[in-house]
This record gives sequence, C-alpha cells and structure tokens, in this order.
Amino acid sequence: MLKILDKTFVPFITAEEIKKEVSSLAKNLNEEYTGKDVIFIAILNGAFMFASDLFKEITLPSTISFIKVSSYQGMNSTGRVDEIIGLTANIKNKHVIIIEDIVDTGITIEKVKTLLTSDKPASIEVCTFLFKPDAFQEKEIPKFIGFSIPNKFVVGYGLDYDELGRNLGEIYQLKEGSDPEKNMLNIVLFGPPGAGKGTQAERLIEKYGLLHLSTGDIFRYNIKNNTELGQLAQSYMSKGHLVPDEVTIKMLRAEVMKHSDSKGFIFDGFPRTNAQAAALDELLTSMDSTINIMLALEVETEELKIRLIKRVEVSGRVDDADPEIIANRLKVYKNETEPVKAYYQEQNKFIGINGLGTIDDITKLLFQAIDSL
Ligand code: AMP
Repeated sequence: MLKILDKTFVPFITAEEIKKEVSSLAKNLNEEYTGKDVIFIAILNGAFMFASDLFKEITLPSTISFIKVSSYQGMNSTGRVDEIIGLTANIKNKHVIIIEDIVDTGITIEKVKTLLTSDKPASIEVCTFLFKPDAFQEKEIPKFIGFSIPNKFVVGYGLDYDELGRNLGEIYQLKEGSDPEKNMLNIVLFGPPGAGKGTQAERLIEKYGLLHLSTGDIFRYNIKNNTELGQLAQSYMSKGHLVPDEVTIKMLRAEVMKHSDSKGFIFDGFPRTNAQAAALDELLTSMDSTINIMLALEVETEELKIRLIKRVEVSGRVDDADPEIIANRLKVYKNETEPVKAYYQEQNKFIGINGLGTIDDITKLLFQAIDSL
C-alpha cells in the first residue's frame, strides 16, 4: 500500500513485469524499423522513465527528442493540448515514433500527431507503455502498447498524482473504498487433491463475490495456450510434482496485483508450501490486507484415490488418469503441503471442515465458518 497526499494506492505492475514488457516493445520496434530513418519523440513529463528504459534497448541507429504538451491536471484529463514545446529536431521524411507513458482518452496524442504531421514525416506511430481501452475516444489505437489496463488512476514509473510518485519503480493503482468496513475477505481453501476445493470455491465466489484464484487452473490455461510458463509447468505437473516456488509465487503475485481492487480472494491450490504461505502474507501485507482464514477440507486418502480416478471422466486431466501420478500428488501433499496447516494454526486462522458428505452439506459448513468470522 502506498499513500500519496489524500489517496491510497495498491501495487499493480511490478518492476520485473515492467522490465520484461519494455524489452518486448524494444524488440518489436527494432524489428519493425530495421533500415529506416527513425526519430523517437518522447512526451514529457510522464514518459521520461519509459523513454529512458526503452531507448537503452533500441539497437537502431536513431535519435531521440523530448517535447512537452499540456494535458493532465490533477486526476482528470482535460484533454487540452495548447502547443508542442521543445521540438528542435527536423522530422521531415523521418519515421517518427512517439513515446508516451499512458494513452487514455487519446485526445492528447491525436493532437500531437496532427501537429507533427505538418512537418511532413515519413510516418508517425505511437508507442505507449499503458493504454486504457475503456477511456479511449479516438479512432486510431496506438500501434505499440505495453499493457492495456482498466480505466483507473495509476501512478509510478513516471506517472504522477499531483506531481508526486513519478520516482516509483513500480506502477500502483488507486485503491477504491479505503473504508475499513470494506476490508478484503481472503480465504485459503485448503485440502488434498480431490477434496472438492474447486467445486466449493465456485459456491463461495457466488455468495461472497470473491475472486477465485486457482494456481492449478492458471497453469492449465497456460499449458492449453502453450505459453512459456505452461511449458515449464507441464514438466512438473505431468509427474505430479510441484511447480517450483519461485515460478508459482511470481505468477500468483501478478494475478493478485491484476485484481488488487477486488473484494477479496479465494486461494485454491495455493499456498502449497510454507515458502508460498510466507510470500502470500508478505504480498497481502503490502496491500494492507491479510488472510482471514484457512478452511481445510479433510478427506481420507483412500476416498481421494477413488474420487480422482472418477474425476478424470469430467476433468480430462492427465494427472487424474494415472494411479501413479495420483499417488505422487498425494505423497507431495503429505510431505510438502500438509505442513502449511500449522502455519495458519499458529496464527489462529485454521478451521478444519469434514470433506465427506454431500456437496450441499459441505457448502453449508463453509458458509457457517465464514459467517462466524
Ligand atoms: P491442482 O489443480 O490444484 O490440483 O494443481 C495441479 C498441479 O498444478 C499440481 O499437481 C502442481 O503440479 C501444480 N500446482 C498447482 N498449484 C501449485 C502451487 N501452489 N505450487 C506448486 N505447484 C502447483
């Protein structure tokens, strides 16, 4: 959590994610503009940090120039652009790449493009680090975009709130409803594979309006889309092993930050190790929040084996199909994951729930436990 003047902000995009995205944008630009006469024009003040990081990774023989326009005052975009100040470079017949920190209504950038066009450049494109599609009012979407973000006020990495916060290496988002009555409700839904976490999580989200974060689901989504993360995760999941903490924590952190304004989370399948539990505490503390309770669904091992083998017909999961992988997952649960219970017991945040019975009965027990908090 971060306080600037009267406003509270929550973490949104980490320094590491920023670095990765800047590199990827630079790579695209280097490829796209090979052999062309390029000039970068960065719009001050906000874009100074992005422009600096981006330009360091540009390998094209190119120049950079800085201009200033008036656009933002306080938290509302006035969309007013009076004039361009500081353009001394000659852009005639050059390929202009405008560097912006953020494009929201698009009015500013459109006016800048119009003004620059009168100097007859060969082309003009916009490279913006952040883009707010829901606020955008113009026709031509910037060609190069780092992150498309919701229409919420952000600060950091060059972006300011009343001139403050530009120095932050990460990007923060305005926290809404800082009222203590509206504190997040964060639940760890715990239990061995096959205990019914996914099924119960769906009912909890519906009743409490929480966001369901299942690390298993996120990994499977990445595997389906053949991402780098998916390929890495698959090599562990297919054997019933845990994906390394470092990878899982980073992924979870990014997901939580993406939804840092939510009413709370149901963590399903996370944390699975004490290191993950500690990382989760640290993350939530940084958001001025905490885990309220761990609800652990308790089911006998023999029953779990029967359930998982049965589940394969519905889930189609390879790790449900093979008794050897199932045995491995249960062993990993016993050795590495079960000790996480003690982590929450020590904090007085543990409730065990009998996971045998009808789905409705178990849901009722979970609702009772949450309502009694
Ligand atoms: P699940 O859907 O929760 O049963 O997870 C399926 C598989 O994804 C697990 O067997 C692990 O290989 C991997 N996985 C899911 N969550 C985690 C986690 N928190 N830490 C490490 N690996 C995980």
